[in-house]
Amino acid sequence: MSTRIEPNVQFIREMQAAGGESLKKCYQCATCSVICPLSPEETPFPRKEMIWAQWGMKDKLVNDIDIWLCHNCGECSDYCPRGAKPSDLLAALRNMAYKSMARPAILGKWMSSINYLPILFVIPAILFLIVWAASTGLTIPDGEIVFSKVFPTLAAIDPIFILVTIFVIFTFIYSVGRMLASFKEAGFVPSEDSPGFLRSLGAVIKDQILTHVKFKDCETNQERYLGHLLIFYGFVGLFIVTAFVATAYWADKFGIIDFATPMAMWNPVKILANVAGIALIVGLVYVTRMRINADPKKTVNSYYDWYLIGVIWAVVITGFLAQIFRLADAAALAYIVYYLHLVTVFMLFAYLPWSKLAHLVYRTVALAYARQIGRKALHD
Ligand code: SF4
Ligand code: SF4
Repeated sequence: MSTRIEPNVQFIREMQAAGGESLKKCYQCATCSVICPLSPEETPFPRKEMIWAQWGMKDKLVNDIDIWLCHNCGECSDYCPRGAKPSDLLAALRNMAYKSMARPAILGKWMSSINYLPILFVIPAILFLIVWAASTGLTIPDGEIVFSKVFPTLAAIDPIFILVTIFVIFTFIYSVGRMLASFKEAGFVPSEDSPGFLRSLGAVIKDQILTHVKFKDCETNQERYLGHLLIFYGFVGLFIVTAFVATAYWADKFGIIDFATPMAMWNPVKILANVAGIALIVGLVYVTRMRINADPKKTVNSYYDWYLIGVIWAVVITGFLAQIFRLADAAALAYIVYYLHLVTVFMLFAYLPWSKLAHLVYRTVALAYARQIGRKALHD
């Protein structure tokens, strides 16, 4: 029996533009699937994705759970005898998913090209300028440097970031729902005796994400493992600090405790913030160095990679500089840099579902679902 395949040529071009430019070089030797430390025994990846991509089989690729099981270590591309860069094809497919899964779709378009970067910057830049204009008329206040004089926590910053958080959560609920529906459509359905999704999710977080064990499995790229681990725990530390400060601030407002910012340098929460910031910087140095030194014959650095690295750098640098200028009593510089800090934090979190950082959610859900349906790497 023969099967007629109608290649989706437009989709092939989109994959090539999103980072899978060498996909046509593949001659199906399967070295990549054999070498991949995370590939399952049954229908392993990424060889099959290479042939689906060459044939423009969009339906197969957009519903493919395996693109999320790949941790982008690049080991397959290192060993590919044709320089077809299979790891980049899987990364390109994930980039296309970031662009298309969440709504509004226009944000996906803006996040996919450097041409739209000014728009992404101008939105928060204007928003926080309005806050500044409303609080002090765009002037630098006298006296002790307290950022909430210019950017009032209660009246502006908390409401803005609470709304951003609600927007991001609902966007992810919608896009994750679409992703799980697409897996089911592709035939990835849990059996009756499968563990529940939440149980699988808990196991994935405990066994894989907190330990980063899958990154460790990719032995040729330990620098990437270390960089990713440090960035991950840097974010965890900063999330704890932010949650603590927000809770304490509101507890103070309701008269439950006495709490004031800025905190003293030796306050444990402040120490955690600085340690997490340093972990983030060291992790960023690893990841940036790795991207700069990447062999162009083996890997492609996409705009999605550089947007995320660039924005995290901007958040960290402006965060530290705002603190340094405040301690040095350089009021104008401190307030301006803090303004830029707010703009970059907004760019990191408000656009999260369309950025590469969305893999934090999509990959975690896909790994949990893969565990639920029993799709495991060969040596798991
Ligand atoms: S991508 Fe490379 S290693 Fe994988 S099947 Fe194609 S030619 Fe072989
Ligand atoms: S990049 Fe690493 S995890 Fe992804 S397919 Fe290649 S070898 Fe496997």
